[in-house]
Amino acid sequence: MNLLYSCQKVAELVSQGMDEPLGRLDRLRLRMHISMCDNCRNVGQQMLRVRELSAHLFAPDSALDDIDRP
Ligand SMILES: [Zn+2]
Repeated sequence: MNLLYSCQKVAELVSQGMDEPLGRLDRLRLRMHISMCDNCRNVGQQMLRVRELSAHLFAPDSALDDIDRP
């Protein structure tokens, strides 16, 4: 089967992985792709940065985070 994800699939998984834990295989494939793909490495870093910024801007409290984490 296809061992490597497409860039689009990687972007989906990076976004998904911010909301919920990814499976071990997904994370492995993500890491493999990102290790070889400068584009996705940049995209991933930008998404993390946007998330950090938006967390500060739009989350006056951490109620949403508390729901996700037991
Ligand atoms: Zn890529």
